[in-house]
Amino acid sequence: MTPTAYERALDRAVPRVIEETIQVTEIPAPTFHERTRAQYVHDRFAGIGGWSHLSIDALSNVVAIRRGEAGRARLLVCAHTDTVFPDRETPVLRSRGRLTGRGVGDNSLGVAAMLGVAEVMQASAVRGAGDIIFAANVGEEGRGDLRGARRLINDYARDFDAVIAIEGHSLHRVQTAAVASLRYEVSVQTEGGHSWGAYGRSNAIALLARGIVALEPLMPDPAAQPKTTMNVGVIRGGRSVNTIAPDAAFELDIRSVEPANVDALLRAVRSAVRRAVGAAAEVRFKRIGARPGGSLSADIPLVQAVVGARRGLRMPAPEFTAGSTDANAAFGAGYPTTCIGVTTGGEAHTPREWIHTAPIRQGVPYLGRAILAAARLPRSAARGSDAG
Ligand SMILES: [Zn+2]
Repeated sequence: MTPTAYERALDRAVPRVIEETIQVTEIPAPTFHERTRAQYVHDRFAGIGGWSHLSIDALSNVVAIRRGEAGRARLLVCAHTDTVFPDRETPVLRSRGRLTGRGVGDNSLGVAAMLGVAEVMQASAVRGAGDIIFAANVGEEGRGDLRGARRLINDYARDFDAVIAIEGHSLHRVQTAAVASLRYEVSVQTEGGHSWGAYGRSNAIALLARGIVALEPLMPDPAAQPKTTMNVGVIRGGRSVNTIAPDAAFELDIRSVEPANVDALLRAVRSAVRRAVGAAAEVRFKRIGARPGGSLSADIPLVQAVVGARRGLRMPAPEFTAGSTDANAAFGAGYPTTCIGVTTGGEAHTPREWIHTAPIRQGVPYLGRAILAAARLPRSAARGSDAG
């Protein structure tokens, strides 16, 4: 079969996507400070043109809507703009088939590839697709708690049937399940005082430490199925070396493929920490994040559209995975959803993050074909399954 004009244009878009990945990476966008990058993406959408709607909302979500044919699947296609890095400078290094830079694959490439597909779609005037809402959203990382994706799903709830999220690194992974997670800040408060003059009073750091040690027997076995994890990722507290610490806190992350395990583990954590700290101080549990879980069958039309696009490009069968991405917000809201990627790489969330450039030659056509195939599904097929 000869490739369509759309498919040829996707192939030609690859160099531009690689250049754009570098440009996007070099605009800092820590979670809660995505505005500058969002403005760049907005201006690129404006340059592409032809949208029936283009906007930036108060959170800095950028939305561009392409009207399609009635009766076809209406898609929300999203890529997050935020990174875990607080940097002002985010240079990208180019070497031996790689790009190295902070957030280069997670998720500058995702944003750049979405722009590339959007541009090709507008230029080649594809037919037979439903509405597509392209969104570059904020708040996927760290304490963002999916606020960007949640806002989009809320604001456009009636305007789409299914969701495709894009994560740069996930070329060979197709997300069909959402890892449920809960994040808590656990804190202890005491009276405090001078380390000499008030000696003998309770120390919040010491009490909190007991609470952390009490979590050790609750840590799930790394080999257990369904996979369930727990992590104390941050600890802070105290005033000075000569002050009895009046406060201390840790941040806890609990995740599982089985949502019920998360709730059960949290209950166990609460009682273990309270018992360990004892009556000497107050323990507070403050929820700082919650991601819904859920799973879908790989047989649903949305996922099959993605699988078909891979087959058309002779790509290997994907690994169906449980993830923690913007797609989780859509799983939670009951939409057929998946998350797919553009290349392979490593060391995400570290300053050494890198991606392979060669697979992008396949990743961009794959993304473009998968989005079009999904948008060409009959509406009833796209929305027909339940996201459990
Ligand atoms: Zn990401």
